[in-house]
Amino acid sequence: MTELDAYSDFIRDRVRKDLEEGTYSGRVQTRFPPEPNGYLHIGHAKAITVDFGTAEQFGGICNLRLDDTNPDTEETEYFTSILADIEWLGFHPAAVLHASDYFGQLYEWAVHLISQGLAYVDDSDTETISTQRGGFGKPGIDSPFRSRPIEENLDLFARMRAGEFPDGAKVLRAKIDMNHENMALRDPVMYRIRHSHHFRTGDQWCIYPTYDWAHGQSDAIEKVTHSICTLEFDTHRPLYDWYLSKLPLPAEKPQQIEFARLELTHTVTSKRRLATLVAEGTVDGWDDPRMPTLGGLRRRGYPAKALRDFCIEIGTTRTNSRQNIEALESYVRRELNANAPRRMAVLRPLCLVIDGWPTDADGSPVVEYFEVANSPDNPESGTRQVAFTGELFIEAEDFAEVPPPKFFRLSIGREVRLRGAYLVTATSLETDAAGNVTVVHASYDPESRGGDAPDGRKVKSTMHWVSAPHAIDITVALYDRLFTTPVPGEATGEPLDDLNRNSRELLAGSKAESALAGTAPGEVVQFERLGYFAADGETPALFHRTVGLRDEWAAIQRRLG
Ligand code: ATP
Ligand code: MG
Repeated sequence: MTELDAYSDFIRDRVRKDLEEGTYSGRVQTRFPPEPNGYLHIGHAKAITVDFGTAEQFGGICNLRLDDTNPDTEETEYFTSILADIEWLGFHPAAVLHASDYFGQLYEWAVHLISQGLAYVDDSDTETISTQRGGFGKPGIDSPFRSRPIEENLDLFARMRAGEFPDGAKVLRAKIDMNHENMALRDPVMYRIRHSHHFRTGDQWCIYPTYDWAHGQSDAIEKVTHSICTLEFDTHRPLYDWYLSKLPLPAEKPQQIEFARLELTHTVTSKRRLATLVAEGTVDGWDDPRMPTLGGLRRRGYPAKALRDFCIEIGTTRTNSRQNIEALESYVRRELNANAPRRMAVLRPLCLVIDGWPTDADGSPVVEYFEVANSPDNPESGTRQVAFTGELFIEAEDFAEVPPPKFFRLSIGREVRLRGAYLVTATSLETDAAGNVTVVHASYDPESRGGDAPDGRKVKSTMHWVSAPHAIDITVALYDRLFTTPVPGEATGEPLDDLNRNSRELLAGSKAESALAGTAPGEVVQFERLGYFAADGETPALFHRTVGLRDEWAAIQRRLG
């Protein structure tokens, strides 16, 4: 029984029906087909959970197929990251395949179509082809090359392959119907001449298949049963079926099924736009923690399980919509709340000196150790010893020289609880020449060890703290939305117009309890009262804020009623 067993949607219903009717002899095989021209993003996580999840649920297999038909934009670096990201998400391709491995078979099938009178070599340039294609309600015009004899087409196509013509001089087109109401069927291009080096096939080919010509045929070669893709391909489905219907296939025809893309508020998921952010230095790279790439989200501290659960639970439909990023964050928070150890860190430190703190016989201040649970809800996670002395750091915003109304944290004369340690009362302060508070002096109640007074008197606020002599220095990165508007580009049509230029705040002087020195790269901890923070894998002592503690999604849902 897997987490997916109980799950149902229109795609799974289709698969179930095919199984019941014995189509594909009980086999279920899907594929995830990224183009290796960028890093995977949250939208791909959705596609991955659909492709792998559907196969898994029905005891089938899912392959990773790199759709590497465009030599100009593809690189090995992307391929490596794609595989690593899929594995990180928790899915394992039954095989790793490449569309470029089928270039030979695709060529033979193209020759087959030509010899059936179903494809022709066209010498027109791109612009002419596009003009002659017509438009909605506007019939297409036959190319003068459409009636080329089969023998001539065979000869020209062989010479295209042999490299006799320069880029753009000719294309191979399917001969379907220049007046079809579906534009995709108005003699689509199957091959272009491109004298480019391909990262896998090298200089073996100078003609490259288009997406439409390569995709369904690759599915057929691999014996895919259900070829799941996003909604923008639904008008291509008749073409997908047309090609397959004209070829001597090795197995039953695969079927294409489309679902709506995942889009998130305050986010873009177009590889091209994400590439622009990287190229222009708006972010530090593809795995910048603000990026919606899987690399970025992982570095930010998003657990793979939270992404999987989110992708599964939002469901799969044929209606385009945009999910609230707060909803995704609430899955992240739920997962981290269950698993992330608690620690104390002070983002913007202010010195708190406890006057009258006892000293040892040798005159040095006494160090006390408090045993603190690593995760209060999860006793198995154990406890740790946290050092406490008379010299501490507290959060600057937890102290107010002139407390505003309803401010119950520290101010002169007010008693607060230092979490798990003592009750302290602020007594006086020191300021610098500019009048900024530099040190707060306090008294403490020795009877309140552990954080409660024996007389049971109430204190309103509990604050986190770090012992100054034991503190380690850390840098903390706080993040805001990468795009200021929920639907980037809604007003102007260009999402990058809504870029938030202040999406990161780096705090270099933060202080943390010494236990944080041992945080493994990528580990996420909860800084008490401040949120969840992921230890950076590359820069030691850098912590990225994953999410805050407050569940904004719950508030949004309440508002929406
Ligand atoms: P982009 O437009 O950003 O370049 P793409 O769709 O071209 O993305 P591919 O590498 O071709 O990216 O995508 C691989 C698979 O992932 C395809 O099946 C595609 O439909 C799916 N996919 C891409 N983006 C999303 C998304 N936002 N939501 C769901 N599935 C997606
Ligand atoms: Mg694509």
